[in-house]
Amino acid sequence: MKTLNDYNFKNKKALIRVDFNVPLNEQFEVTDATRIVSAKPTIIKILEENGSCILMSHLGRPKGVEEKYSLKHIAQTVQDILGVEVKFIDECVGEKAETAAANLEPGQILLLENLRFHKEEEAGDKGFAEQLSRLGDIYVNDAFGTAHRAHASTTIVAEFFPNNKCFGYLLAQEIESIEKVMKTGEKPVLAVLGGAKVSSKITIIENILDKVDHLIIGGGMSFTFVKAQGGKIGNSICEDDKMELALDILKQAKEKNVQVHIPVDVVAADKFSNDANTQIVDIDKIPDGWEGVDAGPKSVAIFHDIVLKSKTILWNGPLGVFEMENFAKGTIALGNSIAEATKSGAFSLVGGGDSVAAVKQFGFEDKVSYVSTGGGAMLESLEGKTLPGIAAILE
Ligand code: AMP
Repeated sequence: MKTLNDYNFKNKKALIRVDFNVPLNEQFEVTDATRIVSAKPTIIKILEENGSCILMSHLGRPKGVEEKYSLKHIAQTVQDILGVEVKFIDECVGEKAETAAANLEPGQILLLENLRFHKEEEAGDKGFAEQLSRLGDIYVNDAFGTAHRAHASTTIVAEFFPNNKCFGYLLAQEIESIEKVMKTGEKPVLAVLGGAKVSSKITIIENILDKVDHLIIGGGMSFTFVKAQGGKIGNSICEDDKMELALDILKQAKEKNVQVHIPVDVVAADKFSNDANTQIVDIDKIPDGWEGVDAGPKSVAIFHDIVLKSKTILWNGPLGVFEMENFAKGTIALGNSIAEATKSGAFSLVGGGDSVAAVKQFGFEDKVSYVSTGGGAMLESLEGKTLPGIAAILE
């Protein structure tokens, strides 16, 4: 796996695909700069070696050129975070971009305009990728968040750097973290899968059954499993058409010696609202008119023990409707258990979909080993897919 450390960037222009798709408020101010901060080590390393950096990214989902999606809005924030002047150019290909790149001196940074102002970016257009490739000497991919897309700047452009391409530090760290869970992790390995739907996690479950010793299935997903086994789930969310699949997963798990843990009790609510009346009931005896919205105290205690016995932990998806304060307790308790296990030496990876939001909201970010920066990319990695952006560097 080639990383920045395999190259000397002295007097070289690094063409870096970063993921600066950050949220902006109505005044076009960056409201969460995590993704920019995450790219900093790669950029600084290249500058310190006396190379120069040409940063390319998308922002939002523009339809053609739309000023509100211009990367000019974030240039100042990037400059503040990096502590180095950032030159912005309102194009990403063509003469203007090529001239700006050619004039870049060692130690300087150029930020290109939104790649998605050109429809060729998402189409993975080869000609567009070739135009991008003219800007730099070495291609560096540090954008995990888009590594599952075969776009021009994330995948196709690598073809034009057959011997001069590598992963940035962030992407390398993402790959290593996933491998620690999926391949090289110390046993026992535990995966906690929560969230709303079985259907969106099916491929992940099937893939990780070969890698884990314990699997906790929580959140809305668990009710499909409970109902499939004959339990009464009241009004809880359930995918009836996935019940057979749920039984099949349990069978497969047994064959593979994976211990599956489903909540034994739940917080049941009489409506889907934070101010609902609640009661704690067994998960398979939820009264009619009530729905399970969070893991109950017995489940939390059981999960705590399993988490603390584990040496490698993957967490994807909440154990309840964490957006509502009264139903966030199970998810917070799980976060605390994982934090404690991490402190005692376990490796913990959190990522995919909404998990990162939950982790940040409750302040667990610094208490787990690694929080993935990619939602969809992380989910696809857990499904066992080789992401095109990663394959393009490995080829
Ligand atoms: P996902 O994106 O699949 O990880 O699902 C996250 C969503 O699952 C969150 O918005 C939670 O509110 C939701 N969720 C978790 N548990 C439940 C539940 N028991 N009933 C309804 N929704 C749930």
